[in-house]
Amino acid sequence: MERTGFITYTALPLSGLTEEFMVVRTREALQYRDSRDCKVSSACIEVRTGRKWNAGKAVEVAESRLRQKALVGTVATGRVGLDYFPQTLVSQVHGKERHHLLQEEVRASVEEERVSRMVGLQQQGAWTRWESTLQRRITWANILQADFQQVRFLVQAVYDVLPSPSNLHVWGKNETPYCLLCSERGSLEHLLSSCPKALADGRYRWRHDQVLKAIAESLASAISTSKNHHAPKKAVHFIKAGEKPQALPQLTTGLLHKASDWQLEVDLGKQLRFPHHIAKTRLCPDITIISEASRQLIILELTVPWEERIEEANERKCAKYQELVEECRERGWRTFYEPIEIGCRGFAGRSLCKVLRRLGITGVAKKRAIRSASEAAEKATRWLWIKRADPWTAIGTQVGT
Ligand SMILES: [Zn+2]
Repeated sequence: MERTGFITYTALPLSGLTEEFMVVRTREALQYRDSRDCKVSSACIEVRTGRKWNAGKAVEVAESRLRQKALVGTVATGRVGLDYFPQTLVSQVHGKERHHLLQEEVRASVEEERVSRMVGLQQQGAWTRWESTLQRRITWANILQADFQQVRFLVQAVYDVLPSPSNLHVWGKNETPYCLLCSERGSLEHLLSSCPKALADGRYRWRHDQVLKAIAESLASAISTSKNHHAPKKAVHFIKAGEKPQALPQLTTGLLHKASDWQLEVDLGKQLRFPHHIAKTRLCPDITIISEASRQLIILELTVPWEERIEEANERKCAKYQELVEECRERGWRTFYEPIEIGCRGFAGRSLCKVLRRLGITGVAKKRAIRSASEAAEKATRWLWIKRADPWTAIGTQVGT
């Protein structure tokens, strides 16, 4: 999307921990300063934030940024800022709304600074070029609930600052930059997605299957729910004169609602054989969902690539199945095929969203499905990272699951 020379991303793939920290502290500083209790507001309580950053200062800066924007109009700042426009003038709002505006301004300033710094860094800023991933947001609630190590791993993996052999070499802590399994350069990308030895060991296959399992579980539960909702009785809705017809909840728009005999087959454990009565092929897709009665066929193929290669994987998998899909259609099967990509660091490709929508999995169920697939990828990748120098054994994989 670098058409104009500006970076036009709407948002970062994840909000930084620093940013959340700053926003939380800004809220505190505002609460103390603007407190109705004059004892509190005049006490000049300083919110402790460590040495490098001061919440009180940030509030001042945010206020002046907003005032400036009000005067000058919205100007793209640095290389970002194109999609951040304050909707309200800070001088016109008070109380909670004003606090909210200031917090968002702090968030925007931190984000701007980070993006402009990251875009400039070839390696650490690689995620700024991800175009097909869904955004994930790390909140304090996540951090407090989740395993801290897991969150730290995610952040370090996204910014590519994990102690991979090649990073250690660059930092002067390793004599050589080579992978511990093969003799190629041991970058994070190599370790997590393109080491030939790891591939031959079955490490990536294992991760792929962890994610596949998560997706299959979501599909299985959607199929059983759709059976209950299949062909609901059409209720008659009366509309008063002059009243606009309201959109009804669309229960029957998804593919899964168009039959009640869906059979889900997943390429886990034993290899999935493509049903010979539909077409003869050597291809083994990851998931087939078949309705014999209505002659409908859904084929899904999963890839767990390095995030930067999601689009490439999608194109490759589209081409791979094109012929088979055409053959199925020629033989009278209504065929829906779509490749799905879940980035190996847990960023789902837009393709997953598209597939879920087409199948009729929406709302909370869709969110849950995306989250479980993302988490499966992230968890498995972390396990591969922990095991990066160890021999790959069946015991190792059992612990990882
Ligand atoms: Zn290697």
